[in-house]
Amino acid sequence: MRTLDDLLAEDVRGRRVLVRADLNVPLEGGAIADDGRIRASLPTITKLTEAGAAVVVVAHLGRPKNGPDPALSLRPVALRLGELLGLGAPVALAEDVTGRSAQATVEGLADGAVALLENVRFDPRETSKDDAERGALAEELAGLAGAFVSDGFGVVHRRQASVYEVAKLLPSCAGDLVVAELDVLRRLTGDPERPYVVVLGGSKVSDKLAVIEALLPKVDTLLVGGGMCFTFLAALNLPETGRHGVGGSLLEADLVDTCRRLLDDAAGKIVLPDDVVIAQQLDEDAEARVVPAGEIPDGWKGLDIGPATVRGFGAELAKAATVFWNGPMGVFELAPFAAGTRGVAEAIAGSGAFSVVGGGDSAAAVRQLGLDEGAFAHISTGGGASLEFLEGKQLPGIAVLEG
Ligand code: ADP
Ligand code: MG
Repeated sequence: MRTLDDLLAEDVRGRRVLVRADLNVPLEGGAIADDGRIRASLPTITKLTEAGAAVVVVAHLGRPKNGPDPALSLRPVALRLGELLGLGAPVALAEDVTGRSAQATVEGLADGAVALLENVRFDPRETSKDDAERGALAEELAGLAGAFVSDGFGVVHRRQASVYEVAKLLPSCAGDLVVAELDVLRRLTGDPERPYVVVLGGSKVSDKLAVIEALLPKVDTLLVGGGMCFTFLAALNLPETGRHGVGGSLLEADLVDTCRRLLDDAAGKIVLPDDVVIAQQLDEDAEARVVPAGEIPDGWKGLDIGPATVRGFGAELAKAATVFWNGPMGVFELAPFAAGTRGVAEAIAGSGAFSVVGGGDSAAAVRQLGLDEGAFAHISTGGGASLEFLEGKQLPGIAVLEG
């Protein structure tokens, strides 16, 4: 696979280079809640500008439904990117994706300068199921530059115009972020140092079933928390007691049998919570109680793992040589349900293991809880992409660079 250094070895001074970045940051009331992805995009952009290229960044924000949506404009991102690049001004933002404004913006772009195209998903062809429509948008994007750098790791699992088709039309290479992410994930899928402990949480089992199936044969221990643990707990309880015992917690009833099979096959590798924090409503001021994991009363829901579970998970993590963590242990966004995620994150950080955090919300949790990012070997910018890689799937945005 060609890398950014290969491109820089050619002279890029005075050349226009299109960079696909992942700048899909969480917004709260129009402000950026976590700028981790913007910061992660800086190394590739600055390497190119320092080499004298005119850099045209293409990125998306959220999921606009019917064309341009002012609430999902990349304007706040252009502002923050300008600050982080030390420009003293926002990065120039085109008003459209490949239209007149985009063309004028890139034509006026000086060597060593950066411009940002407006949210590429404002153009419905970006995510179209129709190859020809994606191809047509890719042609227009390719017309804006003479080379393409794929650096949006969070989207490389998507067959989309600005990720996949455009890479076929321009001389292309992988950016530094994509290379770094792949290096780390290869360490996890290759021959990881043992014990290899995986921690999974987040909201839904259905999102993570494929990765559980793929990882189970490879890991020594799989610690399960978050909303997804309740479907496993139900699978454990039902045959013994005839009751699922998870009250009003997140439960994917159609997956109980699958979870039961995984528990049977896993030969003790899957560790579920012993205790959980419950409340009647998902509310900052809700009365929270700790109960044994399989004894949640009706009308109450499990919203975090309990303190005994944090200690138990912590003991497994302290022994680990390799850790992959995806998905918060509870609703960490609300203070009464944040302790489990904090406890597990601290245990991973303190373990001395080669530790990788995957998943947008997990990465946001590390930062929002004020934990030291440097204590983790790697914090991935791509939740879905890293999971698909670990599932053993081919990622279209990577395959196209290798082809
Ligand atoms: P990631 O983005 O790290 O892959 P997910 O998107 O799968 O993680 O899940 C994150 C969400 O899961 C968070 O918003 C969190 O509030 C939610 N969550 C965690 N535990 C629970 C729970 N017990 N009940 C409901 N939601 C939960
Ligand atoms: Mg998420």
